[in-house]
Amino acid sequence: MRIMIMTDLEGVAGVKDWEDWCRPESRNYDTACRFLTNEVNVAVEAFFAEGASYVQVADGHGPGGIDIELLDPRVEYARGWPPGGWPFGLDASYDGLAHMGQHAKASTEYAHLAHTQSFRYIDLRVNGVSIGEFGQMALCAAELGVPEFFASGDLAFTREAEALVPGIVTCAVKRGVTPGAGEECTAEEYGRRNAGAVHTPPARARELIRTQASRAMRKLREDPPALPPVEGPFERVAVFRPEQAGGPSTIAREEHASSVIELMKLPFNPEVMGREDRVSEGKRQEDRIGKEERSDA
Ligand SMILES: [Zn+2]
Repeated sequence: MRIMIMTDLEGVAGVKDWEDWCRPESRNYDTACRFLTNEVNVAVEAFFAEGASYVQVADGHGPGGIDIELLDPRVEYARGWPPGGWPFGLDASYDGLAHMGQHAKASTEYAHLAHTQSFRYIDLRVNGVSIGEFGQMALCAAELGVPEFFASGDLAFTREAEALVPGIVTCAVKRGVTPGAGEECTAEEYGRRNAGAVHTPPARARELIRTQASRAMRKLREDPPALPPVEGPFERVAVFRPEQAGGPSTIAREEHASSVIELMKLPFNPEVMGREDRVSEGKRQEDRIGKEERSDA
């Protein structure tokens, strides 16, 4: 079975903040990369032991997050993408997609270092469903017929993954402690806002990952998680924070008739968000919640 692991850095146990841990110039960046690579290696071990024949590690953190020298020599490592990025080398030949070191989507409460692509986003929706980096990739993977089967990161992220992909096996390695969505923050403020967390020490986190990754791989073989629905036409709406305190929020809308992957490749064209946009966004959310309540009943 062919497996891809998409990695990020903010959701790794022991990675404490953005400033000192997640940028190439951070004093603990090399340590953060080592922590991530060690987490990935135990999942790789588990995937091969449970029947994987090929594993590709796609290094998805902005400036990279994998220490290739420490990486399990049985995998292939991918970094740098074709134009447009999405879906980062994934194709229909894969049998499963895993996310590791992942953080929750922008504006999530009690999420450690939550953001979507950058700290500028307040929210991103595809066809009315609010999603983050995991959800965008899950939709692209669904279009290719590839299920998301394993997700590790902070607790808020693992709950986000479980809500979008019922049946996915997850592993939480830390939990954020900051309440509230932080919608009032500028990008810079939001980047510092959710740095508080209770961490599982890396050695223990790796043991948890080993157990859950084995379970996930067995489940993928026997009873794979369902694909989230991907039926066009597709609309992507993104709302961005003000550049400076007191400035206007901006909103970008793009559409694609038939492909969520092509939708994700479209550049954003943000416009200043008017009062009408706020009303229609609020209305859209109410409509969606109303629909969910009706389907629950
Ligand atoms: Zn990320």
